[in-house]
Amino acid sequence: MAGQRQITKLPRDTGVAGWNAILNAAPSYPQASGTIHADWLVIGAGFAGLSAAKRLTELCQGDSIIVLEAGRIGEGPAGRNSGFMIDLPHELAADAYAGSADADRKQITLNRHAQDFARSVAEEYDMPDEAVASTGRVNGAVNARGQAHNDDYAGKLDLLGESYQRLDATDMKAMTGSDFYRSGLFTPGAVMLQPALYVRHLAAGLASRGGRPVQIFESSPAVAFEAKTGGWEVRTPDAIIHAGTIFMAVNGHAESFGFFKQRLMHVFTYASMTDALTADQQARLGGVASWGITPADPMGSTVRRHDGIGGNRIIIRNRWTYDPSMEVDADRIAAFRKDHDRAFRRRFPMLGDVGMTHSWGGRLCLSRNSVPAFGEVEPGLFSACCQNGLGTAKGTLAGIGAVELAVRANSPIVQDLQSYDLPQKLPHPLVASLGAKLVLGWREFKAGAEI
Ligand SMILES: Cc1cc2nc3c(=O)[nH]c(=O)nc-3n(C[C@H](O)[C@H](O)[C@H](O)COP(=O)(O)OP(=O)(O)OC[C@H]3O[C@@H](n4cnc5c(N)ncnc54)[C@H](O)[C@@H]3O)c2cc1C
Repeated sequence: MAGQRQITKLPRDTGVAGWNAILNAAPSYPQASGTIHADWLVIGAGFAGLSAAKRLTELCQGDSIIVLEAGRIGEGPAGRNSGFMIDLPHELAADAYAGSADADRKQITLNRHAQDFARSVAEEYDMPDEAVASTGRVNGAVNARGQAHNDDYAGKLDLLGESYQRLDATDMKAMTGSDFYRSGLFTPGAVMLQPALYVRHLAAGLASRGGRPVQIFESSPAVAFEAKTGGWEVRTPDAIIHAGTIFMAVNGHAESFGFFKQRLMHVFTYASMTDALTADQQARLGGVASWGITPADPMGSTVRRHDGIGGNRIIIRNRWTYDPSMEVDADRIAAFRKDHDRAFRRRFPMLGDVGMTHSWGGRLCLSRNSVPAFGEVEPGLFSACCQNGLGTAKGTLAGIGAVELAVRANSPIVQDLQSYDLPQKLPHPLVASLGAKLVLGWREFKAGAEI
């Protein structure tokens, strides 16, 4: 056996995750301490980790299940994304939105399975409606280039037999209150999450379930692990946990565990959220209370208006950076907040008195060949990492799939996740870094007006 292995880097989340900050005080979970025994240990409480824990409660009733989270539930990437849980293909590493029709159909079916999962846990754990809303989304176009993207996408939807609705500038204004968009493509299948609310409720539901609740530990990073006879020993700063099987649901941090080295691309994107709009500001804006727009060009700005516990707010996400260190500093957030502010002012000139109250960045993990880092990487150690684009859906599927693989259930999710090659090796770090920066810079430049 390999002896004890240190986990070389722990996650660091920079900037206040607005979606979480606008909620009521978060329930807290204890820090792991002492010696603990469990049948199953899930490391990471994002979409993948919490979905894995949920699937374990279904397939292994009565077993002891532990979830370890390095930070607080809802503060990591799972609580700081834009909340578009999209059924249709949209690979960030691909040049166009959709690939071959059969592969797309398979992916749509699986993504819809992830959405069904989210809807069913929302019902089971009595989540507020805003946590998981099946309202669809619009691909917004601001110029001829964006319209061409949407035309191309609509053609592929026709091929797939998927429904959509075209919106003109008047429809876009009726929805957003803004003159900014020239047209849009509404696709009804997207589920809109309040991401922090969703992961908080999912964790709370697991921790309070009847029978044998899942034990969740926060502020309890796994710092070392070692294979032992019949299972694994995982250390946190204050605990030693013995588990038969572990699930590594830490997305790009799989690399910090020593797996998929030089095969994962660590990318950040950034968002800001306005203060809650007053009644007067909402009246000036017009439009409807809640909507979500993805940019026709994938590198443009994602914009949401959301209505819920934290009031009525607008959230802007844009800018991409390649950061192999998996960390960004506060200066970066401050710089990109200016871009968010600019994007906001261009769209909503009537809201000159509205400012951004929360700005943040967050990690994503991509692979060069857009494949997951999935599978049994060592006996009894399963990886549910590297979600590429659409991590809300793909992370959910990876968590479910890892558990189904571990209990040897031959499911369509497992078949799909096992059908891919390994994430492709990256070139020398300097070349990879330079290449990624050039590609991101070029794509952002091309997205131009969509930002
Ligand atoms: C600003 C932004 C907007 C985005 N918008 C969207 C969107 O609209 N739609 C979409 O589908 N995706 C979006 N994403 C991507 C999405 O958030 C991620 O793909 C998704 O969170 C991945 O889920 P995951 O469970 O695999 O990983 P994560 O959510 O990153 O969860 C992994 C967890 O593991 C924990 N962890 C790491 N190391 C350790 C350790 N050693 N011990 C214990 N715990 C550890 C981390 O703290 C983290 O909580 C966005 C991301 C960002 C940053």
